[in-house]
Order: sequence, then C-alpha cells, then structure tokens
Amino acid sequence: MNLLHINASARSTEPVTQSRTVEQLVIGKATSDGAGVKLTRVLTQPLQRRLDPFLMLDAFGSDQPDDYIAGFPDHPHRGFETVTYMIAGRMQHRDSAGHEGLLEPGGVQWMTAGRGVIHSEIPQQAEGVMEGFQLWLNLPARDKMTAPEYRDFTAADLPGFVTDAGVTVIVIAGESHSVTGAVTREATAPLYLDLHLPAGARFTQSLPVGHNAFVYVYRGAVNIAGTSVPVQRMAILANNAEADGVMIEATEAANVLLVAGQPLNEPIVQHGPFVMNTEQEIYQTLNDFREGHWG
Ligand code: MN
Repeated sequence: MNLLHINASARSTEPVTQSRTVEQLVIGKATSDGAGVKLTRVLTQPLQRRLDPFLMLDAFGSDQPDDYIAGFPDHPHRGFETVTYMIAGRMQHRDSAGHEGLLEPGGVQWMTAGRGVIHSEIPQQAEGVMEGFQLWLNLPARDKMTAPEYRDFTAADLPGFVTDAGVTVIVIAGESHSVTGAVTREATAPLYLDLHLPAGARFTQSLPVGHNAFVYVYRGAVNIAGTSVPVQRMAILANNAEADGVMIEATEAANVLLVAGQPLNEPIVQHGPFVMNTEQEIYQTLNDFREGHWG
C-alpha cells in the first residue's frame, strides 16, 4: 500500500444506510491444480452464474513445500482475466506474450488472457509459507478475443487507506471511499478490496444493488447483518433491493476480501482453462490450441 494515495476524503465514512444480508455461507473444496499444488476452491463452477462476473476463487496457503513446490508449469488460458494476490511467498511468472515478473508478498498480478496466453507460475522458494488467492474475472463476449495483457503491482503500488476506525483497506480494483484501485474495468466494474480490521472495528462499503458480491474471511471472524462469518468461509451477499451496501463488523481481528462486480448476463461455457460463450467457441479454442494459433 502506498500511503501517498491517502487523502482526506478517503477517511470519511462511506454512507451505508442498510447492509446487505448473508445469503449463503460456503466452505471451499480441497483440491489440487497445476503440478499438484494443494489449494481450496472457494468459488466453484456451480456458483458462476450466481456470482457472475466471477468464475473462480482459489485460496492457497501452506508451510509445507510439498504442497506448492511444483507450481503451475506451462498451461493455456482464453476468454477471461486472472488476478493473483500474494499474501506470503514468491512466484515467478512467464508467458507466451513475452511477459515476465516476480510476484512478491502483497503484490498483485492482473493477467488478461484474452484470445490466449500460455503461462507458468513457479514458486521461488524451497521452504516457508506460500499463501495467496487467484480470482478469475470473466470478459464480456466482445472482449474475449482481445490481445493478452499483463500487469504487475508490488505491495507499494497498490492504492490504500486507513479508516477512522483503524481499518486498513487495500484497493486492488474498483473504488472505495473515493480511492481508485489499481485496476478498473468498465463492463464488469470489479471491486476487489483486502480489509484488515482490528477487533470490534466496522467497515462500510457502498455497493450497487445489481452487483453480485461476496466476502471471504482469511483471518479472524466477522459479523455481517447478524450472520457470523468464521475464518475460511465465503459469505455470498444477498442482492437485497433495499440495501445500499455492506457493513462488516470484526468480532475479532480479521482479514477479509470483499469482492463485487456487475454481472455480464451472458452464457458461460467453461472447459478447463478456457471460458467462452458457446460450445462452438470452445471447439474452436481447442482447435486453435492444438494447431498453435495462440497468443
Ligand atoms: Mn494460470
């Protein structure tokens, strides 16, 4: 977080007169991906429609090198964006468009796969903790075949602020309390905040009613409109017509991700690392990949 981004208006409370409620608490599924990296899939395929425009959220965290050391060797993507947020550990990224970068603690890699990248994500440590998140954000049909793009943000690059209640807010995407995040997107209008709340602190964030939203608690515990949300749970927030945002109260010191976005309301057809709108586009994608028409 770069303290230069703090301004006076950022310290004012974002007015929320009525908080969204919790519609559902979700426990992630233990799985593995890449060359055997253990992770928890929090946002799974059956929730893609409900949480449109978000397609996936993986949480990874381990101090056992065997759980992460093999990393994610070369693999393709097409049709959406991947957002990797590192809490602890280091990973080297390389892709077929010639981009290369080192992801370090507190850093974000925002990759727009567009018409196609082949990339790898390999741990740069033999021991210690590796922890972070990967969020998949869909692209609107008109942008699925856009040129691939890649942006790296160090912890210091990410805009942030501290509220009067002592809540540290890192604004990865969207806007919070008049602070604009590292990335903004017109079609999906993603909001992606990492909140560090001291015990007892409250945080409010306005949210457009039609936007789908969820909270993931990765340390401590919070309460949202009367529902307790324990650690390692995703709370899907209801799209209550009368609610103008969300109020999150830390029942103990807590770190949470708050994610929201404007649904695309387009067909979603996923085949592994490819997310398109029709079966035909998936066949075309598999064909393009086999024949090397990529990137
Ligand atoms: Mn990948």
